[in-house]
Amino acid sequence: MLKLDFHPAGRHFLQIPGPSPVPDRILRAMSYPTIDHRGPEFGELGLKVLEGIKQIFKTVHPVVIYPASGTGAWEAALCNTLSSGDEVLMFETGHFATLWQKMALSLGLKPQFIGRPGIEGWRGGVDAQMIEDHLRADGGHRIKAVCVVHNETSTGVTSDIASVRKAIDAAGHPALLLVDTISGLASADYRHDEWGVDVTVSGSQKGLMLPPGISFNALSPKAIEASKSAGLPRSFWAWDEIIEMNKTGYWPYTPNTNLLYGLSEALDMILGEGLDNVFIRHNRLAKACRTAVTAWGLDIQCADPSVYSPVLTGVMTPEGIDADQVRKTIYERFDMSLGTGLGKMKGRMFRIGHLGDCNDLMLMATLTGCEMGLQMAGVKLQSSGVLAAMDYLGGQSVPLRRD
Ligand SMILES: *Cc1c(COP(=O)(O)O)cnc(C)c1O
Repeated sequence: MLKLDFHPAGRHFLQIPGPSPVPDRILRAMSYPTIDHRGPEFGELGLKVLEGIKQIFKTVHPVVIYPASGTGAWEAALCNTLSSGDEVLMFETGHFATLWQKMALSLGLKPQFIGRPGIEGWRGGVDAQMIEDHLRADGGHRIKAVCVVHNETSTGVTSDIASVRKAIDAAGHPALLLVDTISGLASADYRHDEWGVDVTVSGSQKGLMLPPGISFNALSPKAIEASKSAGLPRSFWAWDEIIEMNKTGYWPYTPNTNLLYGLSEALDMILGEGLDNVFIRHNRLAKACRTAVTAWGLDIQCADPSVYSPVLTGVMTPEGIDADQVRKTIYERFDMSLGTGLGKMKGRMFRIGHLGDCNDLMLMATLTGCEMGLQMAGVKLQSSGVLAAMDYLGGQSVPLRRD
């Protein structure tokens, strides 16, 4: 018997920062029969999701949808805009920024990987001044792109992308701005056009509440122009043919039909709630979660309150307590999955996801599981985080939408 065949009673709590729980509405939409992706009905679905997703990125320019995980869309962003040997300036905010940099290296680019040294660099956001200084020092304009992660999922930090745009402009530098908001989109405010981003990379399984399997490149006219002379080899990822066929709602190859049904439903849900309301809800849940961590007397991984993530909270365990042991206890006793510490943070922290289809009581149950699990693992808590979070949420008047 597969492990998956056994389901404990009740719902599993999937509180990792992606994949996030998929709402029943979306699961049902995905169960519609697969249709002919070249037939007459498909074009309508294609056009709807291609138009709708632009509202989520806040762009009027094309958004390319790939049947791939976020990593594929990272590669697409690099290989459509850059040439072998190009220098790229990348900022180290955590594990995902590090992985993107490794990808740039393996594609034959020359990344300059800057950031604050050691663990401290993984406790804050992108430093726009450092980027500006590097660009000013690059008088020959050898740097072709600046790459930053908007919501660093390994640490729980949401960087200020507008400040990076300002830094590039202040330096008078022509580099493209490429941003990963794989875990930020539809949870944290994001403005592709207003912030002057050239390529935004995102994925389906985080704020969009879909299963893993589709990912995105939102483009700027400057990025499309750069793709005409970019020299890195590409075929599957090439934007031009996809953009051309997308004009009528179709793709050059078989798109992920059932995930697109899901995306259509997710767009209805998110735009129905209203993007601003979605952001307010995420901020409120994140604040409640941090209130609990602080009441426990534990450290929040993000050390800079101005860049706390609305998507997830990183919780550092006290010296001598293995965070993965805490996670294991919680998983085995309460059937709840929490995010592990990645890279430099392995064993030192766990991550609580509060993104996508999440509400006050789901968060309260999550915090209860954490509080009990921490105590079972021998962590001495200063006070009850659950009660502190209840106080915070109870004091907020937020009418549920019933229409
Ligand atoms: C999840 C995530 C990725 C990786 O996406 P995959 O879909 O796993 O390929 C990259 N960057 C960030 C910030 C992420 O949260």
